[in-house]
Amino acid sequence: AAATGRAPRPVPSLPRATRLSGLEPLTITPESLFVNIGERTNVTGSRRFASLVTDGRYETAVEVARQQVDNGAQVIDVNMDEALLDSEAAMARFLNLTAAEPDISRVPVMIDSSRWSVIEAGLKCVQGRSIVNSLSLKEGETEFLRQARLARRYGAAVVVMAFDEGGQAETVEQRVAIAHRVHGLLTEQAGFESEDIILDPNVFAIGTGIEEHNGYAVSYIEATRSIKAELPGVLISGGVSNVSFSFRGNDPVREAIHAVFLVRAIEAGMDMGIVNAGALPVVDDLDPDLRTRVEDLVLNRRPDATERMLEVADTIREKVSGGSGPDLSWRDGTVDERLRHALVEGIADFVIADTEEARLLADRPIEVIEGPLMAGMNVVGDLFGAGRMFLPQVVKSARVMKQAVAHLIPYIEAERTARMGADGGADPGAARKTAGRIVMATVKGDVHDIGKNIVGVVLGCNDYEIIDLGVMVPWTRILETAKDVGADLVGLSGLITPSLEEMRTVATEMERAGFEVPLLIGGATTSRAHTAVRIEPAYSGPVIHVVDASRAVGVARALLDPAQHDGYVTRTREEYASVRAAHEGRDRHEARLTLAQARERRLRIDWSATTPPAPSFLGARAILDQPLEELVERIDWGPFFTTWELSGQYPRILADPVVGAAATDLFRDAQRLLQRIVDERLLRANAAVGFWPAASTEDDDIEVYADERRDAIVTRLHTLRQQMAKTKARPDVALSDYTAPVGSGVADHIGLFAVTAGIGLEDLRASFLADNDDYGSIMAAALADRLAEAFAELLHERVRRDLWGYALDEALDNDALIAERYQGIRPAPGYPSCPDHTEKRTIFELLDAERGAGITLTESMAMLPGASVSGYYFWHPEARYFGLGRIDRDQLSDYARRKGWSPDEAARWLAPNLMGGILS
Ligand code: SAH
Repeated sequence: AAATGRAPRPVPSLPRATRLSGLEPLTITPESLFVNIGERTNVTGSRRFASLVTDGRYETAVEVARQQVDNGAQVIDVNMDEALLDSEAAMARFLNLTAAEPDISRVPVMIDSSRWSVIEAGLKCVQGRSIVNSLSLKEGETEFLRQARLARRYGAAVVVMAFDEGGQAETVEQRVAIAHRVHGLLTEQAGFESEDIILDPNVFAIGTGIEEHNGYAVSYIEATRSIKAELPGVLISGGVSNVSFSFRGNDPVREAIHAVFLVRAIEAGMDMGIVNAGALPVVDDLDPDLRTRVEDLVLNRRPDATERMLEVADTIREKVSGGSGPDLSWRDGTVDERLRHALVEGIADFVIADTEEARLLADRPIEVIEGPLMAGMNVVGDLFGAGRMFLPQVVKSARVMKQAVAHLIPYIEAERTARMGADGGADPGAARKTAGRIVMATVKGDVHDIGKNIVGVVLGCNDYEIIDLGVMVPWTRILETAKDVGADLVGLSGLITPSLEEMRTVATEMERAGFEVPLLIGGATTSRAHTAVRIEPAYSGPVIHVVDASRAVGVARALLDPAQHDGYVTRTREEYASVRAAHEGRDRHEARLTLAQARERRLRIDWSATTPPAPSFLGARAILDQPLEELVERIDWGPFFTTWELSGQYPRILADPVVGAAATDLFRDAQRLLQRIVDERLLRANAAVGFWPAASTEDDDIEVYADERRDAIVTRLHTLRQQMAKTKARPDVALSDYTAPVGSGVADHIGLFAVTAGIGLEDLRASFLADNDDYGSIMAAALADRLAEAFAELLHERVRRDLWGYALDEALDNDALIAERYQGIRPAPGYPSCPDHTEKRTIFELLDAERGAGITLTESMAMLPGASVSGYYFWHPEARYFGLGRIDRDQLSDYARRKGWSPDEAARWLAPNLMGGILS
């Protein structure tokens, strides 16, 4: 009644804007500055984040989000699309946790998934107005509208990619047409305001050498301009680093391209995107010639723009890395300050002079180590522990330390000799007491040592004394050394699966010899589960799986600190006991098909549908001294960063707010050494490749024939079949399914290959180690591995296009190759489809790989040099990589029969694929 006769309250009208919010609003208007989106909370982009989430370590995962926001992200992108995860649950849990952190949840969330159900799970959790990333018309209008309406009901803005039922939009017209269609559907049928629509008109790479790509940047920019003009209110977003992808390896050039691209795109109306703001030069500061060339390239102003960019790309790299003159003001500090700076920054240039200066100032040379050098390394240790320094930087610091110590050792020795001469008795200046003495080895049969060396360096930095026995170390030597030096810890490393059983042997022998020292287990195929199930039961001393180098120091400290030791060991034992229990439970519940049933369910390819192509030659051929230049372009850099434990997808990792600087420095060092390796031919690459007439048998073998008469069987390749009780009509596959069966009348073939890029690596590494340069040595090994994988990729391409010639007109760029968008596969023994490493013996014999390419096999079937890859080629378009999974007793004995193995031999080689019950 009080309101009678009064005018109703006017509905307040807010000016139109894109209104997003976390706890605080983020309002985007035409006057707003460019909006940065942080994307480290993305399992597909950040391995670290992925492992935090898969390990259930959500508290630490939340810290990643916090760092993003601290670093200036105005929105955080959250993605949980990882096969091992219940993505819906993970999304909900993570968002609920961040919601409790006001300094994170103050910014809006971009809920990122390729699956709508995951996006919806996220939408149910967020407070405020979020962004859905992304929708598209790929699956048609009905699904698009269904998702869009739901997004709107949840109050979210949406990112829509310029894709439709026909694929990606490339021309300006296509991009703009999709934008109109999307806008029409969203505003007319889904109730959207224009301001809640964010279009991503597709940033694609330019300068790829493919003519059609030259216009991609212009067409993004022009599409942006048209969309902003024709569809007022909508926002434009994009992933900037894609545009310069073909200049990967050359950051100065990439950054210049990004700067020019962004200036033009923002001027045309781009509102938000993923960029590394810290690494953007100001366009006006660019060298005028460079600027012209970059603008020619980005704006597609002349047909030779790519070549002209390439002409100067190398000199620009040189100029920036060499000429710009580093900041030397730190040289003005005291000698202690200088040593500390050199250690923390990993600068070795002045370390000998500084160490000498400190020695002259000290009473005794040992004091330099115990004083300024240890102080500097403690800073490094603290920064690493706090996640503010990363492995490559620590290894560089260790190099400085080692060079300083190497300079001091002769003086320490001389002093000791003098004292012993003087008092003829005990040695007061004898070996310093370190934090602990650790014997480390790569086990017998295995040659891989990058990870072990990194761990050794990191532990060394933390004052542990490392006795590194190298690779292929038999258990007898490990035990003898551990006893002789009185080791406090023993660490075992291995890469290939046969090493897992070798580690068990070492543990068994340590038990027999009455050892009690803790045993650390590490390396790519090791796992907490394997350590708990196979190794711990063999040894009564503590057994600890060390996930990666960053954990090594924490583990060593907990084991060697009397105050922590008991609690840590008890906790780990309990944890491993529960891992074992879970494992046994899994064994009991995991139904397996019988081998006969699995064979019934084999993949049956319709061989009448295609005629198998004939290879251009039969038998084996060697390729000697493959030019390394051609391999460089084929490198997949992603795994390189993984080796150094930097997580993130290449090339985005270079612009990452957390690890970007470390990754960029590492990458620059890698490029420099790679250039030297190529120019000075420090490594050599060889290969053996061949093709044979072949047919598969009922019992999963592949018969290999001498010639097209197919009457003389040269040898049999043996493959293993999945025995999974699958729900749908999906087959249980063996690799032999991809070869036409005996008696089918189809003249099929199999290809085999072995490549190496590691010839000369040992000498190269030795030359680094002679300079106390572990960083260089590890870098050389990591690059050789990359070149070997690149060679496998290049050779496979030649096989498809030429040697076998079943994909004559294939034209794929490196990304498409890395994404395996080609016909056929090249499975490698030891990998999930074919875990039996001993098949390499047959492959090597057929290829004559030892004589032809200079690659040999160890008793555990590791390839020597370590930077090598070998495997099979299957051409059929239905051929896919798969995981064998676990096999049952019936297949084990059938396989043993086919291989001519005793049951024990079979169980040993196939251990990782057997059920616990078969093994024990
Ligand atoms: N581009 C990556 C390739 C890594 S995978 C790199 O440069 O490191 C390496 C190789 O393992 C593949 O090329 C293929 O030969 C093999 N491989 C991958 N998955 C496999 C599987 N499930 N079974 C058998 N071999 C596999």
